[in-house]
Amino acid sequence: DQSRIFECKIIEYFENHKLLIATDITELYQLAQIRRDFVANASHELRTPLTVLHGYLELMQEMPHDDHWNMPLEHMHNQTLRMRAIIEDLLTLSSIEADSITAEQELVDVPEILKHLKIEAGQLKSDRHSLYFDIDNAIRIKGFTEPLKSVFMNLISNAIRYSPDGGKIRARWYADAQGVHFSVSDEGLGIAPEHIPRLTERFYRVDKDRSRTTGGTGLGLAIVKHVLEKHESHLEVSSVIGKGSVFGCSFPIHRIVIEDEE
Ligand code: ADP
Repeated sequence: DQSRIFECKIIEYFENHKLLIATDITELYQLAQIRRDFVANASHELRTPLTVLHGYLELMQEMPHDDHWNMPLEHMHNQTLRMRAIIEDLLTLSSIEADSITAEQELVDVPEILKHLKIEAGQLKSDRHSLYFDIDNAIRIKGFTEPLKSVFMNLISNAIRYSPDGGKIRARWYADAQGVHFSVSDEGLGIAPEHIPRLTERFYRVDKDRSRTTGGTGLGLAIVKHVLEKHESHLEVSSVIGKGSVFGCSFPIHRIVIEDEE
């Protein structure tokens, strides 16, 4: 009497004949659910002890102490910040996966979001980077505002972090007959083709040491992938080693909100 979950496929196998193949994926689904719950619970449990450590470290930095403790305290403080960022990203991922953003979709003012992100990106970039934003101010879409904001921010901050020698970073938001498009191009390190299909896996990194030192959590593109799936979209990547990369996504035309539809 327990309900089962099936994955169905219809195959045309002979003129007017169709074959329905139903695979029982109940156990697989339950296993995925257990994994999701475990990650969410573990992250949640780690939050409190980390907050305590972080608080005491800040206190110790402010209290009178021997100078040779300055560097270790600073390191410990930075590492607790990193752990906090990882925990927050893990919780974000679990909540997206758990479908908690299937609530009401809203009008997302992407041009306004990008205007703010340009200011934030300006603080992240170095003097050797130049930022160009090419935005069609008339295009707003239906979707989830905060998750989409994190998609755009992740892609823009990656473009900055993975072009250590600087260069031009260009973000675009435009529409054509095929859909609405967002893209970010950089003139950075580039990515070898064999890595591209794996970039959205949790903690997958092309160069582990470099990624850690640039301050990422290793979860940015996994979040991007899941948020885009909720918007009938997916991540597109093209890249040439040593020349740079383009990360982008497209949304279907029907997501565009025309002014008087509000
Ligand atoms: P991280 O926190 O490590 O940046 P992400 O999920 O955002 O995690 O990215 C996964 C990996 O993809 C990175 O570690 C990096 O190797 C690669 N990557 C992402 N964006 C770029 C880019 N613009 N140029 C080159 N490599 C990139």
